[in-house]
Amino acid sequence: MSKGSKSNESSSVDMFRLLTETTEKTRKKRRKELLAPLDVKEFFVEGTLSINKRTCKGVECKLCIKACPTNALYWKAGEVGLMEDLCVYCGACVLSCMVDDCIKISRKRPEGIVETFSRPKDFTVLQHNVNARRRLEKIREVFPRTEDYIEWRKEKAKQKKSS
Ligand code: SF4
Ligand code: SF4
Repeated sequence: MSKGSKSNESSSVDMFRLLTETTEKTRKKRRKELLAPLDVKEFFVEGTLSINKRTCKGVECKLCIKACPTNALYWKAGEVGLMEDLCVYCGACVLSCMVDDCIKISRKRPEGIVETFSRPKDFTVLQHNVNARRRLEKIREVFPRTEDYIEWRKEKAKQKKSS
């Protein structure tokens, strides 16, 4: 391969990266502007949401549209539509959907963990695990050593008994 073609290749890669980054920046800015008046915290920047049109109860239901805190879901021409820029992948729609595996969400936490769910039960278990993980992190902040935490628990139990 000649030197010239190599430099052409790398400049087209740079241009591609530049274009992708610019589009992503514009999208993030647009999302921020759209979500600002709604006062909703943007928990998940990255994610995907799909609705199975074959199993969706549609006009008889619309529960997801009512549950969505950002109005990302709406009724359009006989089916549920999604405005992706308004979706924060919170999961409220999955939690309220009457059909298992109808709405599917895949989202990425800032620390890189990807979570995928499509049933209310899975979402509840996921939230429970996230809360448990957060609780553990808080305990570790206060008691970096497990022994200190055990001692503290023992002391608490003693106090409870004597009161
Ligand atoms: S995950 Fe569902 S409820 Fe939450 S913002 Fe997106 S569409 Fe609305
Ligand atoms: S809650 Fe589920 S079944 Fe009901 S309209 Fe929304 S996607 Fe369809």
